[in-house]
Amino acid sequence: MRVKKQKRHRKAFRFYTACFGFRELFKVLCDGTFVHHLLLNKITPADTALANALGAPVKIFTTRCVLGELRSLGNSYAESLNAARNLLTAKCDHEKQKSAISCITNIIGENNSEHFFVATQDAELQKKFQKVCSMFSSPQHHSI
Ligand SMILES: [Zn+2]
Repeated sequence: MRVKKQKRHRKAFRFYTACFGFRELFKVLCDGTFVHHLLLNKITPADTALANALGAPVKIFTTRCVLGELRSLGNSYAESLNAARNLLTAKCDHEKQKSAISCITNIIGENNSEHFFVATQDAELQKKFQKVCSMFSSPQHHSI
């Protein structure tokens, strides 16, 4: 039963990373679409579920801009906003709110110095990080 459940999780999660070494502790940076996905699929508590899928402890982050974007989506995303508020907040220096996509892209930067996994259901963002990966000679593209 347990194995079955984990398999489902592996399918559900697609992680895109910007290609650099990973540590024992996974730092997952997620956007609103992913938080929404976790809720929709009742993948809670999210950190436990992700830790099982990745085989290592995780810390889940979001950003102020992501929260702002969720807030602007109104009532249908109120639950996602609440869930996202309980996550850690990765620092971004955007005084004026950016879209979740540009905020996350900005935090990952050119070399992902914070070693974040990016978790998103957003096709554009997924494509973006695949592109970042292909710029490096030995891409580590994790898809779980
Ligand atoms: Zn930001």
